[in-house]
Amino acid sequence: MPLHIIACVKQVPDPEAPASAFRVDEAAKKVVAAAGVTPVISQFDALAVEAALRIKDAAGDAKITVISLGPETARDVVKHSLAMGADEGVLLTDSAFDGDSYTTALALSKAIEKIGDYNLVLCGRQATDWDAGVVGYGIAEMLGIPSVSLAKSVTVQGDKVVVERVLMEGYDTIEAPLPALVTVSNELGEPRYPKLQQIMMAARKQVTIWGAGDLGLDASKVGAGAVRLNLERLFQPVSEVECEIVEGETPDEIATKLAQRLREQKII
Ligand SMILES: Cc1cc2nc3c(=O)[nH]c(=O)nc-3n(C[C@H](O)[C@H](O)[C@H](O)COP(=O)(O)OP(=O)(O)OC[C@H]3O[C@@H](n4cnc5c(N)ncnc54)[C@H](O)[C@@H]3O)c2cc1C
Repeated sequence: MPLHIIACVKQVPDPEAPASAFRVDEAAKKVVAAAGVTPVISQFDALAVEAALRIKDAAGDAKITVISLGPETARDVVKHSLAMGADEGVLLTDSAFDGDSYTTALALSKAIEKIGDYNLVLCGRQATDWDAGVVGYGIAEMLGIPSVSLAKSVTVQGDKVVVERVLMEGYDTIEAPLPALVTVSNELGEPRYPKLQQIMMAARKQVTIWGAGDLGLDASKVGAGAVRLNLERLFQPVSEVECEIVEGETPDEIATKLAQRLREQKII
């Protein structure tokens, strides 16, 4: 049976959008989607797809399934992954999925179990919006499979995965038996950019849509009723910067005035 790799991809606000377009709704504790700015695939998740494609290129025969959990618009990141070269796409979309890292990992792990017959699950090292970096390991725990973090390269050798894992200074090499989960870091390199023909082919591919019921999850198991993290407050900090130019005829005079100002402010 060919190798089956599942990559988890999340849709995030475009990090290239101007900071002025970023807004939060403090009352709803939600990030407000910037008007006219299309959300994109989380950068590390594009690398997870790239890692899967490199394994497929080397193996010659492998299947890649991508899964995204999110709103209907998250179909775009599934399509982007299909255009990169993935074979099948699944979108988990249901208002019941609106939760935290735990409920996200639970829904993704149930979907992976439902897909079945997988050898390797690849995630990004962290989603580039909330940067929690926990969903991958949650999925591995729920599936009962080993996980290896922060890969700069991932290869499959027989019945094991071999990962070069990023360290502060250099890397180490880790082997784990399959099935396993690996989170991919930016040291992997650049993700391939889909060509026009691939984008057109991906546009014609069907994306499987599953809701909570399809995964055998009722509302008490996912979403607001099941979250384990309580978001106390979401706000944009206001930083007030005042700039005062200390003037004088000579460097000595400027230094003396500066020292006086600092003493007045009780800084020195
Ligand atoms: C307390 C709390 C409140 C939140 N409130 C909101 C909110 O109001 N609105 C909102 O939009 N979000 C909210 N979120 C974020 C949302 O629930 C996140 O999708 C979820 O917490 C996953 O965590 P993360 O994005 O930090 O993923 P990480 O743990 O950083 O992700 C690691 C990897 O897991 C995989 N992954 C993560 N999420 C997905 C996904 N959705 N689909 C596919 N693969 C995935 C990717 O491969 C990713 O690279 C909240 C999160 C928390 C913790």
